[in-house]
Order: sequence, then C-alpha cells, then structure tokens
Amino acid sequence: MAEEKKETGLSNTGNFIHNYIQEDLEGKLNKLHTRFPPEPNGYLHIGHAKSICLNFGLAQLYGGKCNLRFDDTNPTKEDVEYVDSIKEDVKWLGFDWEERMYYASEYFEKFYEIAVKLIKEGKAFVCDLTAEQMRQYRGTLNTPGKESPYRNRTIEENLDLFERMKAGEFADGTKTLRAKIDMSSPNINMRDPVLYRIAHASHHRTGDKWCIYPMYDFAHPLEDAIEGITHSICTMEFEDHRPLYDWVIRQAGYTVNPPRQIEFARLGMTNTVMSKRKLRALVEEGLVDGWDDPRMPTICGLRRRGFTPEAIRDFCERIGVSKANSIVDSGLLEYCIRDDLKAKAKVVMAILRPLKLVITNYPQGQIELMDLENNPENPELGTRQVPFTRTLYIEQDDFMEEPVKKFFRLAPGKEVRLKGAYFVTCTDVIKDEQGNIVEVHCTYDPETKSGSGFEGRKVKGTLHWVSADHCIKATARLYDYMMLDNPEDVNGDMIMNPNSLEVIENCYIEPSIEEAKAGDQYQFMRNGYFCVDTKDSKENALVFNRIVSLKSSFKLK
Ligand code: ATP
Ligand code: MG
Repeated sequence: MAEEKKETGLSNTGNFIHNYIQEDLEGKLNKLHTRFPPEPNGYLHIGHAKSICLNFGLAQLYGGKCNLRFDDTNPTKEDVEYVDSIKEDVKWLGFDWEERMYYASEYFEKFYEIAVKLIKEGKAFVCDLTAEQMRQYRGTLNTPGKESPYRNRTIEENLDLFERMKAGEFADGTKTLRAKIDMSSPNINMRDPVLYRIAHASHHRTGDKWCIYPMYDFAHPLEDAIEGITHSICTMEFEDHRPLYDWVIRQAGYTVNPPRQIEFARLGMTNTVMSKRKLRALVEEGLVDGWDDPRMPTICGLRRRGFTPEAIRDFCERIGVSKANSIVDSGLLEYCIRDDLKAKAKVVMAILRPLKLVITNYPQGQIELMDLENNPENPELGTRQVPFTRTLYIEQDDFMEEPVKKFFRLAPGKEVRLKGAYFVTCTDVIKDEQGNIVEVHCTYDPETKSGSGFEGRKVKGTLHWVSADHCIKATARLYDYMMLDNPEDVNGDMIMNPNSLEVIENCYIEPSIEEAKAGDQYQFMRNGYFCVDTKDSKENALVFNRIVSLKSSFKLK
C-alpha cells in the first residue's frame, strides 16, 4: 500500500467513500468511473484540488477511469479562458483524463429529448409562473407548497409550448419547464423543480443555437448517466438534492447500474476565501494581481507562488475526506511545501536587508572561493563555490549596537561565524549624519577557516553573507495571508490583510543564483523558501516570491 500511496495521493482507504466503492465493486459493479465536473466560470482553487485528487485518485487506486467534464450549462458566466486554465491546472497537478474530456453542452440535444420524453409521460409541464410567484408557491420547510395553476396542462399543450420555448418565441423568465413530482414533499427540491429556463444568451460553445438551458439539477445527473459514471462525488450542499438526482436518472430510463451520488465536506481554509465568486471579486476590484496573484488560493496562484504539485497532493491526502465541514489551518499547506522542498531546493545565501560589513584585516582585492553544500539534507545536490572578499553584506537584523539579552549574533566586540568562511569580530560601527548605522567593521581570524579542521573555540552565532563585489541584485516579495482571520465584516464585505505583501527592492544574492530560471525554487538560508516569479522576473532583474518562511507555529496533530 505504501507504493500506491505515493502514486495516487490517496492512501486513506479507511474513509466512508472507500467503503461505498468497495461495497459496490464487490456487488454487481465491475469498474469504477468517476469525473471531475468544473463549471468553466473561473479558475480552480485548492478546494477543487481536493475534488480532483479525490476523483482521479480513486480511479487510479481502483483501476477505474476519471473524466474531465466541463459543466457548461450556464452560458452567461462561462468562457474558454477558464476552460484552458482548468485543463492546464488538472494536468499540472499530475492527473490525466486521457481522451475523456467532455462538455455538458455536447449533450444539449440529448437533454432536450429526455425533457420531451418526460412531458409525453406526464412528468413535466410548462409553467408560466414568474420567479417571484414560484417562490410564493414553493412553501417552506414546515408548510407544503401549492400546485402551479399550469400543472394540469395537457401533454399536447406542453409539447407545443416547450417546442416554442426552444424556438425562441418567449422572453427570458416568462416560462419554465418543470418536473411534476410532489408539491407537498418534505424535501423542497422535490416540489416540482425547474428543469429548463429561457435565456437568450450566446454560449461559448453552442453559440446562439439554444435559447433554453437545462438547470443544474436536471443536467448534472444526466451528464453522469450518459458518461457511465458509477460514483458521482460532490460536496455536502447537494445532499438534499440526491432524491432529485436519483429521480431524474430513473425517469430518463437509466436503470442499469445508475450512478450513485456521494457527498463529502468541501474544503475551507483559514485566512483565505474559497469561492470563485469571491475570488473573482478580488480580481475585478483590482485588489490582487489577477487570478494567479501568489496570495490567491487558486491553483495558478499557488503555482506562481512556488508550490509544487507534490505538496498540494500531499496536502489533499493529509486533510482526508469526511462529511463534517471544517476549516483547515493554512499552516498545514505550508507544512507540506516545506516538507517537499526541504531536500529538493538548493540552499543559497541571500541578504534581504543589507548591511555592509568590511573586514579591515582582509587583503584588498583578495577573493577566496568557499565550498558550500547545496543542501545539507541532501548530499546528492553537491557543493558550489561562493566568493568571499573584504567587503560583504549581512542582514541588518544580524547586528545590534546594544545587544539585548540572548542576542548571539554580531555586536561590538562580539565574535560570530560567517557561514562556510571565517570567524569575525566586530571592531567598529560607522554611522551617517543622522546616526543610522551604515557599515560595521570587523577583523577576521585566518586560523578559523571553515573546513580547515579548526576546533579552537566555539561561537554561538552563524550568519549568512554575500560578497559585495559579486552579489546579484534582486527583488523579493514577502507574502502574508491574503485575508484577515475572519475575512468578512458585518456587511459581508471582504477584508484583505493590509500587510499581505511586502516588496523589498534591493536584495543581494550570491552569484550562483545567476542560473535561476522562472519557476525555480530555492531556500534562502535563514529567510525561507523562494521561487523565481514567472511573470515579472527578467533576465537581469530577478523577482523572487517567498513561498513560505522556514518555521511556523503550526504543529501537525
Ligand atoms: P465555488 O463555490 O468555488 O464556485 P463550485 O462548487 O461552484 O465552487 P464547480 O466548478 O462547480 O465549483 O466545482 C467543480 C467540482 O469541485 C465540484 O464537484 C465541487 O463539488 C468541487 N469543489 C468546489 N469547491 C470545493 C471545495 N471548496 N472543496 C472541495 N470540493 C470542491
Ligand atoms: Mg458551481
């Protein structure tokens, strides 16, 4: 099972979905067939990743198949831009729909035929109630609904009206096709639900061919049945729709091994928002740099931030599947990317907030190449040489003129180790006219060279550094959570974290970074994991996104 775990991203065979599937496969079903059915009305987010890993992962685990299906039954909000991005994201996550990519709009003709069949069997009727009237007739959880005055139209009249709806004779909202089920059902979804509505709108695939469009509750079960889906896995809000799902499939005549709907809890996460509607609002209001802003929980945002598919799949496996809605700590996703990069990413020295350090007893013009490990956790990544010179940069906050208690880094008279180089002792502090520290002066001890076997004395602090003559200037973007803890105020307006982005223009990075390509991940020693931005980075002006800091208060349970 250990091997399967890696491949499928889904080892948790103890959850209830597995129980259902195993039960069905032991019964009359011989093959599992799932689907991932996004509506192409926005970019995918990490919640969708949960559904993708689940559906494709189950198919892999049980030797079945998983379709990619665009649920494109709502012409006004959908677009090919979204179709393309969804395909890219599913592939990037590591899943393959092979030749099984479908569009619900390919079935419009079939849906129409099934609607006509229902009318002929007296199970559907054309209704003239307005949306508002329909609401009044619907009843409530405690009171039954009232039958529409149009419910007893003859089959002939219904057939004629439905055909004329399709022909475009009626305006939007003036008529619907409704199922004839039961206005007194305790389940409101069964009170003569709407199957078709009129919308004179162009569809991104069928153009102006149709002006009636099927409702989700009618189309979705039929899409599943047409494709031979065995398990239709969806989120909890559809639990109450399941009797209607089953009704539609049965009435349409799919009685042999009909698809079985199984609901699971949708993913929510702390300090972010997880709905396409809200994410779109952030994009449209210009509060973020597009759908792929590295703060966004979208797949393309996470990719641009520097997350790997492995980390996202690991996250989806760790959160598991249940029926109880819960909010997952964003720290878990960060844990997963650290865990993935810790032995993969090269560790380099980068100074985010530079302070000049001059080694006054180091010869002018001398350059020593220091050997540093590329990743102490992974010797296979080898070593590299980093130039060491008289003038270096260290981090501003690695120096304190008046050190507080337990400050073990550089201070006047104190000695520290420079990573992979020498011990240095601070001798002088140079300030500008305003009293700001602009330089620190040190002396080095030539006996203390790293790797020379020197064991003479211990120092508590080890600082990273870069050579002022060799370093590469770059921009670093530090991210914090996109949203405040509770992302909505009393009016339901979203509140972004005002400190979610900090841009640092003049960082200095060791010269080995020269080889960095867009999308490459590094660990900047002591500063976190960073990724070369794919949009804004130029050959001589690298931009790094901080993926995640090195530590967090998050603890695995
Ligand atoms: P949103 O509310 O973000 O717009 P949606 O459910 O409308 O999401 P769809 O494109 O209809 O988005 O979703 C495609 C599939 O992804 C569905 O099967 C849906 O259940 C699943 N899905 C969407 N959001 C989540 C989530 N947060 N957690 C788990 N699965 C999700
Ligand atoms: Mg939806």
